[in-house]
Amino acid sequence: KAHLTSHSRMSGSSLTSRLPKTGETIHGHKFFIGFGGKGANQCVQAARLGAKTSMVCKVGKDSFGNDYIENLKQNDISTEFTYQTKDAATGAASIIVDSEGQNIIVIVAGANLLLNTEDLREAASAIRRAKVMICQLEVTPATSLEALRIAHSNGVKTLFNPAPAIADLDPEFYTLSDVFCCNESEAEILTGLEVGSPTDAGKAALVLLERGCQVVIITLGAEGCVMLSQTEPVPKHIPTEKVKAVDTTGAGDSFVGALAFYLAYYSHLSLEEMLKRSNFIAAVSVQVTGTQSSYPYKKDLPLDLF
Ligand code: ADP
Repeated sequence: KAHLTSHSRMSGSSLTSRLPKTGETIHGHKFFIGFGGKGANQCVQAARLGAKTSMVCKVGKDSFGNDYIENLKQNDISTEFTYQTKDAATGAASIIVDSEGQNIIVIVAGANLLLNTEDLREAASAIRRAKVMICQLEVTPATSLEALRIAHSNGVKTLFNPAPAIADLDPEFYTLSDVFCCNESEAEILTGLEVGSPTDAGKAALVLLERGCQVVIITLGAEGCVMLSQTEPVPKHIPTEKVKAVDTTGAGDSFVGALAFYLAYYSHLSLEEMLKRSNFIAAVSVQVTGTQSSYPYKKDLPLDLF
């Protein structure tokens, strides 16, 4: 069972020929609502591979919140610890995308910021029973940290995705991370180093490993990822498939969700093999438009991944 403590939000996307100027009203040609938030995306990907998952998060007591819970249920995710509050609206994002793919995005965290340590104490019984818990930074750092403490002190494997990254991350986040997984730009913010190649990523990963994580993984888009661990502190590059990417939004979340699935159910595999398979699954997701809508189900994937 993979447990997630995390962010959930609705997104409203408008497609236009160009981005509007301040004060201007323009016509777009398409509007659609999507379900997102890093934690929810990761949970959906893990569930579609067959993981038993539960989403620990907070949405508003509003129609978006109700729709959100319905979406989790449709993905076979337990909503026992998906809280609804009257005190804030469901997290939301307003997105405008022009014909060149340039975008403007405003995210309002809303109810996500109200997920607190008291909620976690209630969810602790479930966290303790999980094999893996994933956390991100889309709820308050104090809440993420408490979730990591509960998991860590109960021997539950922690997969921490420090996204969106903050430069002065509390040092405890590193020591509580069994697996610390971020992308290039997050690695840059966290280390102050430039990360533009697998070699650079290896150097940044070493800096992060020295802060106390057991395993560090940095994802590199079309280049796959780099890994290293306390037991093998030499960076290793794991390349991925060459595919025709049509929409890479949410690729990182597909990767993290897949990795959680392998950590929970295929612990006999080497880390390198888990990462090869997670690379493959994320590469499938970039060949389809959308975020959750691009995440593959077990039935659509080659049998040798399972
Ligand atoms: P994020 O979505 O957080 O920016 P990345 O861009 O690093 O994260 O992508 C995460 C993972 O998704 C990569 O490690 C890789 O496995 C896969 N991926 C992303 N872009 C591509 C691509 N163009 N071709 C193949 N795989 C990709």
